[in-house]
Amino acid sequence: MKRPRNTKLLLHACCAPCASAVLEKLSPRHNLTFLYFNPNIQPAAEYQKRLAEFSKLKTKFKFVAAKYEPAGWLAFTQDLSAEPEGGARCQQCFNYRLDYAARTAAELDFPEFGTTLSISPHKNLEQVNTAGRAAAQKYAVKFIEFDFSSLFRRSIELSKKLGLYRQKYCGCLFARDVCPN
Ligand code: SF4
Repeated sequence: MKRPRNTKLLLHACCAPCASAVLEKLSPRHNLTFLYFNPNIQPAAEYQKRLAEFSKLKTKFKFVAAKYEPAGWLAFTQDLSAEPEGGARCQQCFNYRLDYAARTAAELDFPEFGTTLSISPHKNLEQVNTAGRAAAQKYAVKFIEFDFSSLFRRSIELSKKLGLYRQKYCGCLFARDVCPN
């Protein structure tokens, strides 16, 4: 069935730079609400910094921010602390974040959800989509399998133009020193 134009879409956003480029691409055709749920980001000061950057964009779209509770994410991934980026810990990380996104979509009556995560060349698209599909099935909402990889350069341009902070690592402390983003 063809997707009706301007169907409500809940889009999980990882950070302001990625959201800026995705917003530019999707806003003409989608009724967007962004969800900021990233308990993987550590330490708390770094989380607050990224959230503050994200909030700079919020006049441009509807925005839901979840409470910052890293303990649940840490418990979910701690056995995988030695994994490299792109390994099993990242799959768990995507599972955790997209499960929350799908549950929020169902609770707030969004028929569809997605994520900006695929924009980063450091992310494995199949891992992201595996997590999204499982969450969609669990909460009976539709996961849109966006591939935003072609927007990465545009996200760098927009970050410069808008003066957005670009983080130097993905998010968790496990990868902080070996995971340039
Ligand atoms: S490297 Fe990034 S995607 Fe992987 S577990 Fe850490 S925060 Fe999550």
